[in-house]
Amino acid sequence: MIVSVHANAINSYTVTGVVCGMLTTKGDLLTVDVSERTVTRTSIDDHLSAYIGGRGVATRLAYDRIPFGADPLGPGNRVYLSTGPFQTSRMSFTGRMNATGLSPLTNGLLSTNAGGFLSRHFSATGVPCVEIIGESDELLTVHITDGGVEFEAVPELAGATVPETSAAMEEQRGLGGEHLVTVGPAGENLVRYACLMTSNSRAFGRGGLGAALGAKRVKTVSFDGDAELAVSGLNEEAASEIHGDAAASDSMMKRQGTTSGIDVKNELFSLPTEYFERMDFDEGVEGINGAAVESKKYKRGTCSMCAFACKLPTRDEARGVETEGPEFETVFSFGSNLLVDDIVDVMQSNELCDRYGLDTISAGVTVGAYLASEDRFGDAELIHDLVERIARRDDEVGDLLAEGVDRIHEELGVENWTSKGLEFPGHDGRVLHGRGLGYATANRGADHMYSKIHNLEYNGEIGPEGLDGKAPLVAALEDLKAVNDSAVICKFSRSFMTEERYASLFGVDYEELLAIGERVVTLERAFNNRRGFDRTDDALPYDLPGFETALNEYYDVRGWTTRGVVPDDILEAVLEV
Ligand code: SF4
Repeated sequence: MIVSVHANAINSYTVTGVVCGMLTTKGDLLTVDVSERTVTRTSIDDHLSAYIGGRGVATRLAYDRIPFGADPLGPGNRVYLSTGPFQTSRMSFTGRMNATGLSPLTNGLLSTNAGGFLSRHFSATGVPCVEIIGESDELLTVHITDGGVEFEAVPELAGATVPETSAAMEEQRGLGGEHLVTVGPAGENLVRYACLMTSNSRAFGRGGLGAALGAKRVKTVSFDGDAELAVSGLNEEAASEIHGDAAASDSMMKRQGTTSGIDVKNELFSLPTEYFERMDFDEGVEGINGAAVESKKYKRGTCSMCAFACKLPTRDEARGVETEGPEFETVFSFGSNLLVDDIVDVMQSNELCDRYGLDTISAGVTVGAYLASEDRFGDAELIHDLVERIARRDDEVGDLLAEGVDRIHEELGVENWTSKGLEFPGHDGRVLHGRGLGYATANRGADHMYSKIHNLEYNGEIGPEGLDGKAPLVAALEDLKAVNDSAVICKFSRSFMTEERYASLFGVDYEELLAIGERVVTLERAFNNRRGFDRTDDALPYDLPGFETALNEYYDVRGWTTRGVVPDDILEAVLEV
């Protein structure tokens, strides 16, 4: 769908945020202090009305409660886990969860979400948002149920991989990986792009929140219960219609997931290759494309309640490799960008990242920076070895690469393929110019999920070249995706959602929904402004024609200053809601 850019959606801060008949959740924030081992509950009904849930509510809470100067790896950081109203429904695309906190990689406020089977167990605790604060003096597990919270010291789990941690929790508590948010060895070792893992193979991928929770010395948090979130106004008919459409769809994604477009990306020169030196992988793409992934897929894979089922359980019996994925981004980061043309080698990298709890994009790009510096492209054995050394920080090279490209590119003598410190994904903004602009403006950094404008550039809804008229579209898409993240609706629902469906699902005008999304983006930006982020951070490592003009237009649409800063009057209006 093309997102409408409604004039009255932009800067429309006169809205109240509470609309009669609107889908609403009520509930408490559960604050878990791992220093003091105490728990408090605070009603957040107002924030739930104004921000829906998920990323929106967590962003508002973070803005109010994390000190602007906090160290992402210190006790002042807070990690939020939150759900939305649809996690109580039977609608496809809702098997996801949100996590928010200060990123050890970008140093900014950041949200990330994961699929899998956690969301319903989280909702069954009866709270829409959990906040983890402080810093434990020993390695802990935290068990959250509808009946209370239990803390348990687990020194024996130090260094345990993600599957080993799940197996231990299964044995001790009968709770498998689908109940858990786990920090792998990479998070314990404060690798800056360590992710939080759930359901063993699903990652809250970007930005290093695994290290933020690892710094608090929390190994895993379990969720279980029989409670129900207090959700009202859910349009069951609209939800059921979307679920039916997802089930009936014959989308190629059901067979090949996000890898289904790899050949097209290669033909369009939007498949970064050889540490971004090239934009196609003609000589090797056949070995790692969607068909190659599908040839290793042995069953259908999904997230809870999702009939679209785009996940990719794969295995190669000859080499004894079994994993879930690789998704497109991992095929790029551990395949074309490293000149690896064997899908089993990419599967093995994927499996290692999941086992140790590493973001596959940042890990692959950082390994690529090292291979570029050593001229060792295509050496799969070295690549797998490096992933393990990074996760353990167990030698000089592993320790260096654990810092991410932004901090080490000068030492390696390679280009800095990051924006705001976040390593680039695979949709190449040098060809998809709106994508490039969106990488620069995203509060998270180089982030393909923040606006997803590349979808329109790939399918011809807008031309890939040039930035004319794209700034308002990037802003509107960022707002819409913030709505998805706040309701925690998977962004792969895109082909099934129209403006009318958004409106009927939420019981509110589409423009009002965009205004909610805009508040989320604005608060993230305002928080990061207070940490020193400004226009100089909305930058790309390459030139795009018309970029500075488009950036000015983007700021203008949002009502921000030409320095990329949220003015006080807009911030005050947002904070009043
Ligand atoms: S579309 Fe795919 S990633 Fe999204 S919820 Fe469904 S199975 Fe999970």
